Amino acid sequence: MPKRIIHLGQPGLRKELIKYSKNVELKTRLYSGFNPRETIRNTREGKPLSQNEILNWVNGVASNVIPDYQTSAWLMAVCMRKPPLTMEETTNLTLAMAASGDILDLDELGIVADKHSSGGVGDKTTLVVAPIAAAYGITVGKMSGRGLGHTGGTLDKLESIPGFRVDLTKDEFLKQIKETRIVVTGQTGELAPADGKLYALRDVTETVDSIPLIAASIMSKKIASGANHLVLDVKVGQGAFMKTIKDARELARTMVEIGKIVGMTVVAEITNMNQPLGEAVGNALEVLEAVETLKGHGPEDFYEHCIETAARMILISKKAGSMDEAIIMAKRTIKEGGALEKFRAMVKAQGGDERVADDPLLVLKIAKQTPVYYEGGNIFVDNVDPMAVGLAAMNLGGGREKKEDKIDHSVGIVVKVKVGMLLKKNDLIGYVYSDDSAKIEEAKLELQKAVTTSAKPVSRLPATLETYPEQI
Ligand code: URA
Repeated sequence: MPKRIIHLGQPGLRKELIKYSKNVELKTRLYSGFNPRETIRNTREGKPLSQNEILNWVNGVASNVIPDYQTSAWLMAVCMRKPPLTMEETTNLTLAMAASGDILDLDELGIVADKHSSGGVGDKTTLVVAPIAAAYGITVGKMSGRGLGHTGGTLDKLESIPGFRVDLTKDEFLKQIKETRIVVTGQTGELAPADGKLYALRDVTETVDSIPLIAASIMSKKIASGANHLVLDVKVGQGAFMKTIKDARELARTMVEIGKIVGMTVVAEITNMNQPLGEAVGNALEVLEAVETLKGHGPEDFYEHCIETAARMILISKKAGSMDEAIIMAKRTIKEGGALEKFRAMVKAQGGDERVADDPLLVLKIAKQTPVYYEGGNIFVDNVDPMAVGLAAMNLGGGREKKEDKIDHSVGIVVKVKVGMLLKKNDLIGYVYSDDSAKIEEAKLELQKAVTTSAKPVSRLPATLETYPEQI
């Protein structure tokens, strides 16, 4: 049995991990004699992966020793593996990814809270929730991701603000979190670099929707960026990576348990992704909608979702005694402008044009708007397929087909209908934003196809389905 390098479940695991992350000599020594092909085969054949094998794999990825083609094959083997990676293997993968770069030790700052979504369509929640929590003096240090598959990524959204930097160094991250108490950045060569590489490959190799890979990706970033209080937003439905409530529960449970192993306070909410969240899908359009929401004028479903998630952050950070109180507090920061001011402070600190908080249309580049109308008769909306809308936005140029693709921040779709609404002939169902006439026509058809109807009244979709643990 190979010797364990990191002892799971021991008190002080986090400190042990920090020590391991800095031990380059040990990492190099472990790697000598490692055979990536053997690990690909073992994974494919469902053989147990030892901790050392996983550490070596992740170090090989982070240090560019393992080429992308072998990593892609391994990712596919993980996705297809039966039985899937065990809880212990997934935890080892998460810890190895967290320790592939530096792990920030933010204990001196007390509670450092974060939230992370497993990915959805129109999910710009971080841009609203992080400032709400920060407005209550909660330190929010967040490492976000880019667009993945048909879903958008917070970093791509933030980059539509001219000048906004998402590549902060470790020192810049630390300086900002101490001074401004709110920071949203991406993986760098210093923080969770293995996730940065795996994430970019997963995006273009159809290896996203795997519970162990999503759990390890999300939790490694959270561990590396020093959060000790975490709200996880696990999306479920047509537009999410988890299509069934059973899988969503499994992902929520896996991440919460990993969080506990490293001593985090962590809760998960399982939320509906059977229609786009809010109205806007596309990078600059989503920033615009987030700013409107911070000003109190956002779409109702998105506003309610942000308030609930922010309230959970406020509650677990012990700033409120109950969820009801936390909800009132979250609403107050929108009403009184505290959250908008925190958003402005973050944009300014990260080099972005802070006028986006006052007049987003002055600052954001948004493509030409083309309306799309409903062509049927009086009828109830029974589906607004979020996957179709996400793919339509991606086809307009808002997402990546290949890892090196540049995205167009100005394009996207705004959907004006929700499940349960009554539609009349020639009602507006949304807008396509693009300057390319061929793409506009395609996207109009895709949006029309995404909205389907029923003669019978249809209930509105609930936002939050469950929480884990149940009582929060
Ligand atoms: N968000 C992440 O950071 N990683 C995933 O794999 C999915 C969503």
